[in-house]
Amino acid sequence: MTVSISTLLVLGASGDMASRLLLPALGQLLTEHPERQLRLIGAGSDDVSHQDWIARITASFAAADAKGSAIKNLLASTVYHRADVTVTAEMKRLLAECEGTPAIYFALPPAVTTLVCDALASVDLPAGTQLALEKPFGADEESAADLNAQLAKLVTEEQIHRVDHFLGLSTVLNLLGLRFANRIFEPLWNSEHIKRVDIVYDEELGLEGRAGYYDHAGALVDMIQSHLLQVMSIFAMEPPATLGAADLRDAKGIVLRATRVRGGSAKRSSRRGRYTAGTIEGRKLPDYLDEPGVEASNGTETLAEVTFEIDNWRWKGVPFTLRSGKALGVRRREIVVTFKDVPHLPTGLTELEKPTILRILLAPDEMSLELNINGPGDPYNIGRVNLDASFGPGQFLAYGEVLEGILEGDPSLSVRGDTAKQCWHIVAPVLKAWKDGKVPLEDYPAGSRGPQDWPSLG
Ligand code: NDP
Repeated sequence: MTVSISTLLVLGASGDMASRLLLPALGQLLTEHPERQLRLIGAGSDDVSHQDWIARITASFAAADAKGSAIKNLLASTVYHRADVTVTAEMKRLLAECEGTPAIYFALPPAVTTLVCDALASVDLPAGTQLALEKPFGADEESAADLNAQLAKLVTEEQIHRVDHFLGLSTVLNLLGLRFANRIFEPLWNSEHIKRVDIVYDEELGLEGRAGYYDHAGALVDMIQSHLLQVMSIFAMEPPATLGAADLRDAKGIVLRATRVRGGSAKRSSRRGRYTAGTIEGRKLPDYLDEPGVEASNGTETLAEVTFEIDNWRWKGVPFTLRSGKALGVRRREIVVTFKDVPHLPTGLTELEKPTILRILLAPDEMSLELNINGPGDPYNIGRVNLDASFGPGQFLAYGEVLEGILEGDPSLSVRGDTAKQCWHIVAPVLKAWKDGKVPLEDYPAGSRGPQDWPSLG
């Protein structure tokens, strides 16, 4: 069903996520669509004056260079209300102010989101109301199932947007376009030709003052359980007949239902590390344990690596290694597809040093196909060449692409309830093995590539 949202109600509007990610994305979206009439209502527990509210939105919009008539109209009509959004009467008051069909964006701590869903249980939401929920969605399989059940009492699954901005339209479509719009890739996209797939998201940034959230989540939950499993499911899906929400999300769900920790052993198939003091491009970072707000007893990892397998015909035996960490010396955001060795190299050509490798870079979206060719000089010598291409920037910031889906009532890019639960199920054995101390928490200096003895990926 296509809906037209006329009010965006942001709960937790005075928080970091709303001002740094959501509002700039909204500004960009409205700049592109000056014809869109959208009222913005902010609600939060902070006391924010109207003047301050306008100043905050204006600053967030300026970050996205937002302008035009839709922005002007929004600034003229927007309001902020101090409210405890976990109280039914206050939610009713906020909803009464919404014009037309609202989208409610929960930019709230997860525990508060659950309470708001309780508070909404006795409220008749306007037909077509869209609910957008930030990650993390639950804290394990059971709590994700409970939250799904709570949400199901409020609206239909198609009206629920479990946000994962890694599923921004351009990244998803670039992956699907590369694979399905070219005859040369799809026939090779299987275990007969692909040796391994590594999905790496290494950041140079450290904690950046986010201990309150990160020290309880860690790299596994923050990145692998959510974003990287989603990316893997798009990479590995069967060809969908259409790009509609049902086909895309079914195809992702099928991959994730077949995904397990490789060999059934979290001990052998996962690693975790934590940064110590070091320097990144001249910037000194303290030991993670000395970062403000960090509790050593949480035993939080800042680097996680897990190898999965997808138990189906297409991917049997192919290791999928997902890795992400903070405070690393080199920023890497890529899917690395390593092809199998050729079955026979004609005698006379020099040995190959490496097989063919396809790198699909995420944000900015680019690709590089590393091929073996007869290079310059001796024609029997095999050398290496990279075919590089840029996909170009998407129309919007990743959050803008997600927000557009929410405002149009299109959940294609959001995570379906069964999938959100399944992603917790997939990582549960790893979380348990780590909690039970079966996998050592290894140190690595900030600015390095990770613990010294970890084999490099891709
Ligand atoms: P913050 O703590 O900065 O913001 C949460 C906001 O919710 C605050 O303004 C807080 O007000 C408000 N709030 C809390 N309880 C209530 C209540 N009962 N009634 C009304 N308002 C309330 O968190 P973030 O903005 O960082 O994160 C929000 C969500 O977004 C989280 O789920 C997070 O995981 C997710 N997220 C955040 C990202 C980020 O970079 N920040 C990135 C991706 C996802 P007060 O401070 O006064 O309590």
